[in-house]
Amino acid sequence: MCSLSTRLVQCLEHARLEEEYLAARDRLRNLSRLRTLSRQDERRLADAVAMAIARIKEHIAAHGCER
Ligand SMILES: [Zn+2]
Repeated sequence: MCSLSTRLVQCLEHARLEEEYLAARDRLRNLSRLRTLSRQDERRLADAVAMAIARIKEHIAAHGCER
């Protein structure tokens, strides 16, 4: 038997990395909308988003758990 819920928790690490990515992306979006970011901060947050994406890709390559 294969239920949807077991598919969702198939890879907890992947889900965690995705959450990290979404959180970083939202932070960048929200802060840039407020226009209170310095160039340095914007760069730092953009880097965090890029790194989160890189970690997900690395994880998929190492783990083969693409959803
Ligand atoms: Zn995985």
